[in-house]
Amino acid sequence: MMSESKYLPIYKHKAKLIQAVKDSTFLVVTGETGSGKTTQLPQYLHEAGISKDGTIGVTQPRRVAAITVAQRVAQEMKCTLGREVGYQVRFDDCTSQDTVVKYMTDGCLLREILADPFLSKYSVVILDEVHERSLNTDILLGLLKKVFSDPAKSTRGRSFPLKVVVMSATLETDKLSAFLSDCPVFQIPGRTYPVTCTFGSAVGPKDIESTGYIKEVVKIAFDVHTSEMAGDVLVFLTGQSEIERACDLLYEKAESIDYRYDVQDQTVDGLLILPLYGSMPTDQQRQIFQPPPPRIRKCVVATNIAATSLTIDGIKYIVDSGFVKQLNHNSRVGMDILEVVPISKSEAQQRAGRAGRTSAGKCFRIYNKEFWEKSMPEYTVPEIQRTSLTAVILTLKCLGVHDVIRFPYLDCPEERFILEALKQLYQFDAIDRTGRVTHLGELMVEFPLQPGLTRALLKAASLDCQDLLLPVAAMLSVENIFIRPGHPDKQKEADKKHRALASRTGSMNDFATLLSVFHACKSSDRPSGWCKDNWIHWRALKSAFSVETQLREILLRLQQKSDFPVETFDGNKSELLRRCLCTGYFTNVARRSVGKVFCTMDGHGSMVHIHPSSALFDQEDELNWVVFHDVLVTSRVYIRTVCPIRYEWVKDLLPKLHEVDVYELSNVARE
Ligand code: ADP
Ligand code: MG
Repeated sequence: MMSESKYLPIYKHKAKLIQAVKDSTFLVVTGETGSGKTTQLPQYLHEAGISKDGTIGVTQPRRVAAITVAQRVAQEMKCTLGREVGYQVRFDDCTSQDTVVKYMTDGCLLREILADPFLSKYSVVILDEVHERSLNTDILLGLLKKVFSDPAKSTRGRSFPLKVVVMSATLETDKLSAFLSDCPVFQIPGRTYPVTCTFGSAVGPKDIESTGYIKEVVKIAFDVHTSEMAGDVLVFLTGQSEIERACDLLYEKAESIDYRYDVQDQTVDGLLILPLYGSMPTDQQRQIFQPPPPRIRKCVVATNIAATSLTIDGIKYIVDSGFVKQLNHNSRVGMDILEVVPISKSEAQQRAGRAGRTSAGKCFRIYNKEFWEKSMPEYTVPEIQRTSLTAVILTLKCLGVHDVIRFPYLDCPEERFILEALKQLYQFDAIDRTGRVTHLGELMVEFPLQPGLTRALLKAASLDCQDLLLPVAAMLSVENIFIRPGHPDKQKEADKKHRALASRTGSMNDFATLLSVFHACKSSDRPSGWCKDNWIHWRALKSAFSVETQLREILLRLQQKSDFPVETFDGNKSELLRRCLCTGYFTNVARRSVGKVFCTMDGHGSMVHIHPSSALFDQEDELNWVVFHDVLVTSRVYIRTVCPIRYEWVKDLLPKLHEVDVYELSNVARE
């Protein structure tokens, strides 16, 4: 282990920590962000020989965190990533037989529990970043409590008891300890330095809808650079496109600096601007942690990932936009939507704290006091209380948790959210009227995809035309493959190329375009060049190729079983793709009402528009019925990835949206 890790606050408590883990089934560990919990504790347990009994598994709510931390720990343990230290995230498994310390997303561990309910290959499971309260971590907490809290049962299905460590950065520890049978709490003492916070004047409650906050963030970050003493800057923004935009603007401004006159601190003569967001290539991410060259100030523009999951040393200044991108269930359209919302006050404090790790720091909030008081909630609502539960409820049901209402939730979701999930599962034929998982439901749970997409894929497989759906499912599981540059001229050029790709399919259907792009690139002699010419994201497409292979493997495994459903299709072959889509997307049907306005048919009757990125945009006159993949809410509700359909194809499915009596399902759920 590198000697610098001896300076981390956790180091002094090594022996006691190891003992505390050994002494009880559950242990809560807290400590300031950066104290060494995530990178050090698993190594301590490994050194203490605990991994001889089984793998040490560490979960992270964020995919990038799992990868980055594994890289770091592999480096500290002087081993190749994927050998003793590895990671697993959705569609990317970098572990081997030798892996003893495994970082993974919470979603991955949840899938493992499906195959092995007692987690028999693990000696210790560490749930990390529990304060983030991600949906999967909350479900894992409940499951581990249910299975292991009875000491008599703690070796059930295992040869030795499992140890469960729950790590959190905030002081919600009493609640966690109480939830886990009053388990011990280990607090890693650590000092922090004072951070002075100042409020801005520009962003008030009315600015939420506009993107003016990006410019404001850039302005303040620039002011910090020119007027503050040496020290690195961390800017909190919302997502990839906002971050790229801000970095571009910062570059432009930084070009104009004359370091002889414009900068207060004469020891500073350069600005290194680095973006940090989830889908960034990992080699670029590594740069974030490296100290900047002498006399250069580092400015990292990041999503919330830098709030607790990753610690960057040397940060002295924070610029806080006050916003975060969050998945929320939108009751207006009845779907989960990624939206930009004000952060909570506790989140704002956490962000500010990042400046006071090694010395006193400053935090510049771009928003005013009124925004703080009127728009920012006290605490962030746990994900389980604000997003769709369909996929996790199916997982719970498949694990034999029949009564999903009385499951031990750390914070209960509203009952109507559970009912909504049950209703959806029933509509997809994943559960029956009595709430039991159907054969189809057991097949569906095998796919790490959203249920509607899985349903369409399984329909296609039963008709032996999975080759139409596998690439589509893969393309919808990776980041957006269409590049849309910020510059207006380039944007026009890109749009033109994308239109051309769409018209090649001859069918004006965004799903068919995805399929066609997939094949066109795959069969090209120089795929990366092809992508460049067509304004397609080569890295995203490469991931899609890999995802498609993995989905195909899952499907093949299931198809080998004799009871895999087989159906015949007597319609027109050219309709196959669209017919399969209808089976999964009948919950997302819209019908044109007037002009360019469509109305959804799911009972919400929302008024929606086709998004300009769709090939069907401006073709509305010729359309009547469509299905769509998702929605984007700005001042309007837009539907994206759209496919024209015929009413006959969904006629028999639509009544299902209204037929089921949720109270009947809920009575069964309580049994
Ligand atoms: P915690 O989990 O308590 O927040 P971590 O174990 O993540 O703390 O981090 C401990 C320290 O390790 C951080 O202060 C940081 O300096 C260092 N560190 C963590 N990850 C990296 C990395 N990828 N590159 C360089 N340093 C890192
Ligand atoms: Mg951590």
